[in-house]
Amino acid sequence: AIFRVTVTPLSRDEGRAALCAFEDITEQEQMGAIRRDFVANVSHELRTPLTALLGFIETLQGAAKDDPAARARFLGIMAREAGRMNRLVQDLLSLSRVEADERVRPTARIDVNLVIGQAIAALKPLAEAAGVEILREGETGPVLLPGDADQLTQVFHNLIENAVKYGGAGKPVTVAVLHDPDGIARLGPAVRIEVIDRGEGIDAIHLPRLTERFYRVDTHRSREKGGTGLGLAIVKHIVNRHRGRFRIESEPGKGSRFTVILPVESAAETPVAS
Ligand code: ADP
Repeated sequence: AIFRVTVTPLSRDEGRAALCAFEDITEQEQMGAIRRDFVANVSHELRTPLTALLGFIETLQGAAKDDPAARARFLGIMAREAGRMNRLVQDLLSLSRVEADERVRPTARIDVNLVIGQAIAALKPLAEAAGVEILREGETGPVLLPGDADQLTQVFHNLIENAVKYGGAGKPVTVAVLHDPDGIARLGPAVRIEVIDRGEGIDAIHLPRLTERFYRVDTHRSREKGGTGLGLAIVKHIVNRHRGRFRIESEPGKGSRFTVILPVESAAETPVAS
């Protein structure tokens, strides 16, 4: 714990006395450190593509000016770097949006299978390019629950995209939707959605930190695959906002399972004990 100690001398008639106050500022200090780290991370993540862009602009203005082949190649790299900056800014905006409305419970009734279908449709080109088949299991009809359709689409988009990216070329990805009558303790019946891949898995030491912003098992690999390191942080916040649970299990060499559990009953606020 971190304490702030304030010593205030007392008036002279009370002798040589002083008032010593201890204030626990651990949490304040931790929040400050997290914010500083975040800003440093964002700056670093943005500077990497920006430096590359500036370098290529300079080359295009100089040495490569009259070389059409070099020009085409450099423009390709520049487009990729600009795309990375764009994704990063989009993910940062999503994250700040979900953090801002985390206290407001979504109430609209949505169909989880519809939302999953939309995420899969958007990822079809990526999956096809990697030769990955996305299989659906469990409940296939409408599964209704209170939720924010855009945000839940993003949850499944991020999870399925990771499964395709890190699951290995040619290995299928399974998305299972299962009724879970026991559900979440005190929150009643739920729906369990599992996204399963058969990739190289994740070592146990990384699991607890995967939902931290910018945490990656292999930074180079993530960047190469167009990752921002924010995907699972966004997933965690959206699931929290839905009063759900998020779990990651993995067996190195065999694959990983990402489970989202969402309550099916309207998420009424827990009554305050009187
Ligand atoms: P990124 O944009 O880097 O993919 P995420 O927050 O989505 O960021 O994921 C964080 C890290 O977790 C990734 O960089 C990757 O190392 C690891 N990871 C996520 N999903 C999987 C998966 N299905 N298999 C193996 N590793 C994964």
